[in-house]
Amino acid sequence: MNTFFVKIICSDKVFFEGRCQTVILPTPEGQMGVLAHHENMVVAVEIGKLRLQTKEGEWIEAVVSKGFAEIMNNRVSILVNSAERPEDIDVLRAREAKERARERLRQKQSIQEYHLSQASLARAMTRLQASEHGKKYI
Ligand code: ATP
Repeated sequence: MNTFFVKIICSDKVFFEGRCQTVILPTPEGQMGVLAHHENMVVAVEIGKLRLQTKEGEWIEAVVSKGFAEIMNNRVSILVNSAERPEDIDVLRAREAKERARERLRQKQSIQEYHLSQASLARAMTRLQASEHGKKYI
């Protein structure tokens, strides 16, 4: 099986580093699958679920927030603000973040604040959706 090197860096850590068979990225245009020897490009990464299949065949899922991915010479570098495995998601924290964002959206805000609140809400909802215990709080 053809593999390629993947590194996922978020603001506070290297989330993943190793060889993969497949990476599925959430992009503004939808899911984008990357296999070995993909053409070189840079794509935006959206708030959503990223999935990768390691060299050994194990699937790893992560909730990521905005960033970008660079596909260059059979290497994929993904830079995102945050990345969490579903089992590491703090459901209570995501619920509170969702309520705060909803409350802000009910109030009058500047267009910039409105977009920030929308992004907070999307992060919280994606975390709740990805977490096994969080689904019931969406
Ligand atoms: P909050 O308002 O709760 O901080 P947020 O969406 O503003 O949520 P981020 O700025 O996206 O948080 O993330 C800051 C850091 O906290 C990152 O390292 C991220 O992985 C982590 N994080 C945020 N929310 C959660 C959560 N519900 N469970 C686990 N880690 C989280």
